[in-house]
Amino acid sequence: MTTQQPLENMLHDIRKKALKRVDKKPPRELAASWSGDDLLYSGPGRTIFIVLPTPGCAWALSGSGGCSMCSYIADSPLEEVSTEELVEIFKQQLQRQIENQELAGPTAIKIFVSGSFLNEEEIPPQARQEIFRIINAYDDVEEVVVESRPEYVTEDIIRDCCQLIPEKIFEVAMGLESASDEIRLSRINKGFTREDFENAMQIINRVKSNFKVQGKVYLLVKPVLTSEKEAIEDGVRSAQYAAEMGVGRIAFCPSTIHKGTLMEVLWRRGSYQPPWIWSTLEIIRRVRESVEIPVIMDTAGFGTRRGPYNCKKCNSKLKNLIIESNINQTIPPEIECECKPKWEADVKFSEVTRSTTNLVKNR
Ligand code: SF4
Ligand SMILES: [Zn+2]
Repeated sequence: MTTQQPLENMLHDIRKKALKRVDKKPPRELAASWSGDDLLYSGPGRTIFIVLPTPGCAWALSGSGGCSMCSYIADSPLEEVSTEELVEIFKQQLQRQIENQELAGPTAIKIFVSGSFLNEEEIPPQARQEIFRIINAYDDVEEVVVESRPEYVTEDIIRDCCQLIPEKIFEVAMGLESASDEIRLSRINKGFTREDFENAMQIINRVKSNFKVQGKVYLLVKPVLTSEKEAIEDGVRSAQYAAEMGVGRIAFCPSTIHKGTLMEVLWRRGSYQPPWIWSTLEIIRRVRESVEIPVIMDTAGFGTRRGPYNCKKCNSKLKNLIIESNINQTIPPEIECECKPKWEADVKFSEVTRSTTNLVKNR
């Protein structure tokens, strides 16, 4: 089910303008890959990330205009990419990573498509199957992670994927963003409900009796039109809800301002600021106390003009504490800085004034 939302007209216009500015590139140039240390289900390991060019997220290309914080569509070739080309690009990128560093020890492969890997309009079934066959030949690959909106999670597709990698963990990461339908639909323009997400999780939980399949969620910290206090409360509640639904892992994505989005328009007008890093620390502390599955707080963009920010003195210190806490899953210690009382005041008063910008921050 998809649901139309009030922001839709604005988002559609913003997206149209942003797409006009996109410099169209051939699919091959939009592919990318890299690898790094990561926390796997089995413990520390290496993750190889591969970005595949696809026609673009169907939700962003629909009349909806897509989600209010997302600019992925600008990274898509916006044209059909054939199965042969997709498979060839995947092979090349994987080979590049194996040449950089031998594939040995616990490894995960995460495939990003700037949309939904399980949508057969974005990734044809033959391409999906061939990619999984290639991956299955590598014994050290323990996990395969793809991203998808929940409406493309069907039992047939999940079983089809699992059968091709029967010994590996297959994880479907969904951008739930918030447990609140009001926040997800009206402020993020996500277009799916809790019921859609719960249906997808039911399928995944059912297939778990035969295969090592897992659900994962991304949660957005501080969507537009959300105060600092509400962002913290929603983050904690959403993680608890996702864990209750049976997801295996949670990743928090604190807002950063992407070009050509409604979030950028509001930010330029002074009507929106990404969260304080203090707020992300507060979320991670409270979630670690109440949720037992692995939870990661993404720190990309921390301390930058367009990302979560505290003050010059403590940005890097807090970022490092959170990275450490991501790796060992422990509760980060309390720390102090002269900017902390400003954050506390912001949390207190943003709720009273319903402000979504930083009331006292002096950047
Ligand atoms: S967040 Fe996901 S569903 Fe929303 S527009 Fe971006 S790629 Fe599409
Ligand atoms: Zn500080």
